[in-house]
Amino acid sequence: MLNQTSSYIGGGSGSTANRSTMTIANPATDEELAEVVLADENDVNDAVAAAGAAQREWQSFSVAARANALWKFSQLLDERAEELAALDTTNTGKAIREARGEGAQLGRIARYWAGSVDKILGQQIPTTSTELTYTKREALGVVAAITPWNAPAVSTVHRIASAVACGNGVIVKPSEWSPLSSRIIAEMTVQAGMPVGLVNLIVGGGKAGHALASHPGIGGIRFTGGIETGQKIAHAAADTFKKITLELGGKSPNIVFDDADMERALRGSLWGIFANTGQICCSGSRLLVQENIAEEFVGRLTAMAEKVRVGNPFDEANHIGPLAFRRQYERVLDYIDIARNEGATIATGGGRPDGVGSAGCYVAPTILTGVEPNFRIAQEEVFGPVLSVLTFADEKEAIEIANGTVHGLATMLWTENLPRSLRISDAVEAGNVWVNTARAYGPTLPFSGFKASGVGNAMAEGAIEGCTRVKRVTVAYGEADGTPGWDDL
Ligand code: NAD
Repeated sequence: MLNQTSSYIGGGSGSTANRSTMTIANPATDEELAEVVLADENDVNDAVAAAGAAQREWQSFSVAARANALWKFSQLLDERAEELAALDTTNTGKAIREARGEGAQLGRIARYWAGSVDKILGQQIPTTSTELTYTKREALGVVAAITPWNAPAVSTVHRIASAVACGNGVIVKPSEWSPLSSRIIAEMTVQAGMPVGLVNLIVGGGKAGHALASHPGIGGIRFTGGIETGQKIAHAAADTFKKITLELGGKSPNIVFDDADMERALRGSLWGIFANTGQICCSGSRLLVQENIAEEFVGRLTAMAEKVRVGNPFDEANHIGPLAFRRQYERVLDYIDIARNEGATIATGGGRPDGVGSAGCYVAPTILTGVEPNFRIAQEEVFGPVLSVLTFADEKEAIEIANGTVHGLATMLWTENLPRSLRISDAVEAGNVWVNTARAYGPTLPFSGFKASGVGNAMAEGAIEGCTRVKRVTVAYGEADGTPGWDDL
C-alpha cells in the first residue's frame, strides 16, 4: 500500500477524513511514492490555534532555554541529515551529492539561530535627560512560511529556526509536491524540547496557502515561490495587515567579460545554471558574454555541458537528476519549444538526454544561442536546465541587457578588472551580486530580491526583521517634569 503523508498539527496528524488527496511520484522512475492528504481550512484553523497556544508557552521559556532547544534541534538535524537528504532525492530527484550538501547545512542553520536568540536586540534612543526611550523586538505571534519544492529540507529548517528564535509559533506549508522531509523535521522540534504545537506543518496546495495568507490569526507570512503566487499572497495578506517577506523568481544574468579568468568563469557558469537541474531561484539562466570571446566561450561551455552526467539521482557519479515532477518537466520542454519558435538555436540538449530510458523527468543540459533580449526565453523564468546566450559589446550594453527584465534577484559577474566589477555591481538591479563566484549564500548572509524578485530580506538579520515587530517605550522619570498636557487647564 502507498505511504500516506499528511499535516502535523498540535503534535498529531489532524483529521484525514473527507480530505482530498493527490499522489506524488518519484520523478526519477515515475513510480508512485506517496498519497498526500491535502489540508483544508479547518486544518489551517486548528494549526493557527495550536501555534498560538504553544507560542504563549514558548514566550515563558527563558532565552537560554529557547537557545538550548534550538541547539538540540541542530544536533538532531545533524544525526538525521543523511536520511533527510535521501528523502529529498527520492521526492524531488535532487542529485544525492547536492542533497548531502544541503543536508550538511541543516544543523548549521539551526545553530546560527540558536546563537541568535539572545542577540535580537532593541535600541535606547536619546531624547531628554529625564526620559528613557527604548525599543524592543517582539514576536509577531504566529508566522506562516509557504515554501517551494526545490530545496525542501533547507527551506523548512530555515523558516522554522528563524521564526521560533524570534519567539513565534510557526506553520510551515511546504509545496504539496515535496512534503516528505518537512514532516520529519517538524516532528523533530518536539524531540528537541519545543512545546507541542509550536511548529506545525500544513500539507496542501494553493487553497491551504490562501487560507494561511488570509487568516486573521497569523501575524506574518514568509513566502518563497513564483511571482504570480507572491502577488496573490500579498493581496490576501494586505486585507489582514500582515507583515510579508516575498522571495520570488529570477532570470539572473551571468556576465562574462573578455578579461575574466576563463577557466573559473566556465566552471562557475556551468554550475551556476545546471546545478539542481536548473531549479534554483538565482541560477544564472542568461549568459551575457562579451562578443569578442563569445564563440570560444560558448564552444567550450557547450563541450562541458555535454559532459554533465544526467541520470539516477542516487548514483554518486551523476551531477544532476530529473526535474522534480511531471508538470515541471513539461513546462521546461514547452519553453525549449517556445525558444526554438522564437528563432533560438539549440547548441546542445533540447530534450531528453541519451541513455536515461523512457521513465523519469530527465532533460539534458540545454544551451540556446542566437537569443535576443526581447525573446520570452530571455525574459521569463524557466526553472530548468536551460541557458540562454546573449552577447554584448561593452559595459553599457551589458548593464542594459542585465537590467532589462522584471526580475532582480542575482547577478554573476566574471572579470579580473576590479574597478569594472565595482561599477557593474553598483549598476545592476539585483539583491545579490557575485563577482568571480556563483550562488554564494548561507545562514549568515542577507538574501533579497529587487523588483519582481521579492520584498524584504529573507535571511540572517533580514529574517529577524520579517519575524518581529518593533515596540517603542518612552518613560519620563524626572521629578520636576510635571504632567504632560496644556499648562492652562
Ligand atoms: P509556486 O509559487 O507555484 O508555489 C510556492 C508555494 O506557494 C507552494 O507551497 C504552493 O503550494 C503555494 N501556493 C500556490 N498557490 C498559492 C496561493 N494562491 N496562495 C498561497 N500559497 C500558494 O512556486 P513553485 O513552483 O513551488 O516554486 C518555484 C518558484 O519558486 C520559482 O519561481 C522560483 O524562482 C521560486 N523560488 C524563489 C526563491 C528565492 O529565494 N527567491 C527560492 C526558491 C524558489
